[in-house]
Amino acid sequence: MITPSRLPNVAVDGPSGAGKSTVAKLVAARLGLIYVDTGALYRTVGLYMLENGIDPDDADAVEAALPNVKISLTFEDGRQILALGGEEVGDRIRTEDASRYASAVSKIPSVRAFLLDEQRNLVERGGVIMDGRDIGTVIMPDADVKIFYTAAASTRAERRYKEQRAKGEDVSYEEILAAIEARDKQDSEREIAPLRPAEDAVLFESDAYTVDECADRVAAIICERTNLGESHGA
Ligand code: C5P
Repeated sequence: MITPSRLPNVAVDGPSGAGKSTVAKLVAARLGLIYVDTGALYRTVGLYMLENGIDPDDADAVEAALPNVKISLTFEDGRQILALGGEEVGDRIRTEDASRYASAVSKIPSVRAFLLDEQRNLVERGGVIMDGRDIGTVIMPDADVKIFYTAAASTRAERRYKEQRAKGEDVSYEEILAAIEARDKQDSEREIAPLRPAEDAVLFESDAYTVDECADRVAAIICERTNLGESHGA
């Protein structure tokens, strides 16, 4: 059980494109938690490699470049802002290339170690809902609530396809599905911090629900396990 002096921490893990960040953001606003998107940290490291012509599969080259990767993570009105070398990364971390680079660099142990303190410092304050791949297993094994948030690869590919087309990116559904399957494989089979549910995680399958329904259900899971519902009337 949580102590009354600090707000609970919530871990949300799951594969790419399941919609966990959209839902975690909504739930954070509803329950007064701070939403932390840890994938954005890996994306920012990947972006550095992409923009500096460094092969993300070359672990030695990536490791050698890490001291030059100057990341700053701040929050403004509950919104997470990431900057690389003093410049906001914005949507540059959301392209297909950046996704591929993020997935590649995230299997390098020195990259995970590089981002560990940043994530652990945020946990200490309490009251965060943090999404990623290893939050419940590595970053906050003592989280008050752990949710493993997933959806079938085909559902995720369809959602991502619609988003990318709406942004004007020229991609096909098949390409997106193949990229999602490749990332799932890489994320779950890697040696370090592989994607897997923590033993005490609640499994949530989002396929059949709208975003709002997912947010209702996830908020309910959190409220049932903490005192948050009492103070926010959720
Ligand atoms: O969640 P998102 O798709 O933005 O994450 C980008 C990449 O970062 C993923 O492919 C995953 O490999 C990696 N990642 C990770 N550990 C986390 C969060 C993301 O390895 N906690």
